[in-house]
Amino acid sequence: MKWNELLIRYGELSLKGRNRSHFVRRLKKNIETALIDLQSVVIKPERDRMYLFADDYDDMEEAIKRLPHVFGIQSFSPVAKCETTMDDIYKTAIDVVGSDETEGKTFKVEIRRTDKSFPYVTHELQQMIGAQVLRTFPGLSVNLQNPDILLLVEIRSEGAFLTSKVYPGATGMPVGSNGKSLLMLSGGIDSPVAGYLMMKRGVAIDAIHFESPPFTSELAKQKVIDLAEKLSSFGASVRLHVIPFTEIQQTIVNKIPDGASMTTTRRIMMQIADKVRVETEALGIISGESLGQVASQTLESLTAINAVTSTPILRPLISSDKLEIIDIAKEIGTYEISIRPYEDCCTIFTPSKPKTKPKLSKITHYESFTDFDPMIEEAVKNRTIYDLPRQQKDEFEDYL
Ligand code: ATP
Ligand code: MG
Repeated sequence: MKWNELLIRYGELSLKGRNRSHFVRRLKKNIETALIDLQSVVIKPERDRMYLFADDYDDMEEAIKRLPHVFGIQSFSPVAKCETTMDDIYKTAIDVVGSDETEGKTFKVEIRRTDKSFPYVTHELQQMIGAQVLRTFPGLSVNLQNPDILLLVEIRSEGAFLTSKVYPGATGMPVGSNGKSLLMLSGGIDSPVAGYLMMKRGVAIDAIHFESPPFTSELAKQKVIDLAEKLSSFGASVRLHVIPFTEIQQTIVNKIPDGASMTTTRRIMMQIADKVRVETEALGIISGESLGQVASQTLESLTAINAVTSTPILRPLISSDKLEIIDIAKEIGTYEISIRPYEDCCTIFTPSKPKTKPKLSKITHYESFTDFDPMIEEAVKNRTIYDLPRQQKDEFEDYL
């Protein structure tokens, strides 16, 4: 079955009254980003739905695979278009219904008739089309309450539009419609999931990653770039800032007592993240912490880490179990990347017995003997920036 277009229905954003056109514009851009390499795709937004066209049919099929990941879409349907003559409508209805297995299945026809000049009214159309379909597929029977196949037929002045499939969308809100935050992205399983969940609430993200070459490898960095690129497939480009962290980590190992070094590492990471956040005009910092998972994720540790800033720290996984997080990671395709066996800077420098209940007063006392500020400034200045996804479309046309 070759479909002519995709009909995209909006989700939660329809509730947003006056902001609606802003949300729709944002969703259109995000879909374009997710489909950036599909050259023939054209998107036409309307007030309460969007249409996607593609001259190259491979692009259409690829779009069907990717749209379920774009936030702000409630559902979408591939649609067959034909002339508004009964012969054409019958033929197309049979093609559409026949694209699924029909033997022993139930079905129902639903009509939406916005072209009021069309010579048949809704219930006549329903009966006529239903009768044709039943004649062609004797294995089908009618079920008006809970049909296996729901054939939707829309009669508009520009043509008749038919579909029998409704694919669920990612729901949520278009990325970017709720501001921007900076995601602390390690190569682990949790932080990409944390980024994903905030994107689902409409938050655009920049990402920051700390690397400590030569203790961490190029492959560890590549893993993080791949994770950031994966996140960009959910409907918004991601700028990744990679921070050279070796000097600071070595200084911590030399100057801070073992039990406190993990907390200080996190506090300095947070200070650097906060400086990058200001430069990138992000409003919050996102981390993948989950309460009690490891020593640095007790309430005492989080308190000591938080003390370096008043910026909101968003921790969407704080109450999640590891297994729940892994399930999401698998579903969104980050798990396979995260389990590549390259260690990140924290794993390598982790002391054997980090304190699970660090005292802020002790930590600040240990830190007071070393001037970390110039190193922090230097690390921020010497960061490397990667823009994901790696290829960009030349220009976006706006229909709104
Ligand atoms: P993850 O699976 O996200 O690595 P984790 O369970 O391994 O999390 P930690 O290693 O303690 O937990 O890290 C806690 C959080 O700190 C991470 O989720 C991430 O947000 C941030 N983080 C840790 N290491 C780095 C790093 N090298 N670069 C950027 N952020 C980091
Ligand atoms: Mg980790």
